[in-house]
Amino acid sequence: VKTIGILTSGGDAPGMNAAIRSVVRSAIHHGLKVKGIMRGYAGLLEEEIVDMDSHSVSDIISRGGTILYTARCKEFTTAEGQKKGAEICKKHGIDGMVIIGGDGSFMGAGKLSALGINTIGVPGTIDLDIACTDYTIGFDTSINTAMQAIDKIRDTSTSHERCSIIEVMGRRAGYIALWCGVANGAEEILLPERYDGDEQAIINRIIESRKRGKKHYIIVNAEGIGHSSSMASRIEAATGIETRATILGHMQRGGSPTCKDRYYASIMGAKAVELLVEGKSNRLVAYKNGAFVDYDIQEALQMKKDISSEQYAIAQLLVR
Ligand code: ATP
Repeated sequence: VKTIGILTSGGDAPGMNAAIRSVVRSAIHHGLKVKGIMRGYAGLLEEEIVDMDSHSVSDIISRGGTILYTARCKEFTTAEGQKKGAEICKKHGIDGMVIIGGDGSFMGAGKLSALGINTIGVPGTIDLDIACTDYTIGFDTSINTAMQAIDKIRDTSTSHERCSIIEVMGRRAGYIALWCGVANGAEEILLPERYDGDEQAIINRIIESRKRGKKHYIIVNAEGIGHSSSMASRIEAATGIETRATILGHMQRGGSPTCKDRYYASIMGAKAVELLVEGKSNRLVAYKNGAFVDYDIQEALQMKKDISSEQYAIAQLLVR
């Protein structure tokens, strides 16, 4: 490869800037040119392409979001859109691509690869819902942001002897809820992968704990279950205990990335460039069992992952 294009796609995640910086600087180290593609696949199709040098990524490692912006693009899910994207890459001399995003973005990356552009994916999502990897860029920052917010809610919840339902993000996955549930010492941790919908059991446990003199009752609920406000109304009606729902929302996607997100994103960005330099394509950078590795994109997209049963069991014994 001679010229690498880089884009961020799908939901943004803190640490994406560290990955961009690492891709740009590693590419320059290998004597390659770098072009930044704005707004994901949408910007590719609109030819929003800018030259990047070492200076373009100065002062961004500590910033949340992505300097390249991100978008979702329907046109790129069509065969014509993909063909147009590959042609635009060729027109701009881009023969290698690094795509930072989630599963949807990697499907697009696989398509570009099949059309002759050497393409490598880097996992960026706060949800940790990419099967081939134990780490995704942004998860660590997001759980720390959510944890701090839940600590604050817990203080006021205790003072008013309330029950609080805090809904965290994660889409269909419960990783953020699991980590915060444990780290915040919640009384209930509700994960879409495990929750059986037995609200009466929760109500019974709230009444029990009140009898034992507990001042607060923190329920960490996952976005994949949702309905936190109506859950709060039903719990309040059944227990007589004031119950409030807080949906943390997009604050979990923002903020300065943690050290771990900056570090892992930096290693992954450089790994992606190394793979391109070795002539590889259609690969995903991943972190598995303590090592940075890479997988074939289609194989990676076929993989499944689930909340660890062992960790879930421990979380459940700690809530009581
Ligand atoms: P996140 O998990 O953070 O939302 P994501 O990458 O999974 O990230 P998506 O919206 O699913 O987010 O995908 C991002 C973009 O990737 C889409 O807007 C589209 O342009 C492209 N994309 C998604 N699916 C495909 C597909 N099957 N083929 C080609 N491109 C796709």
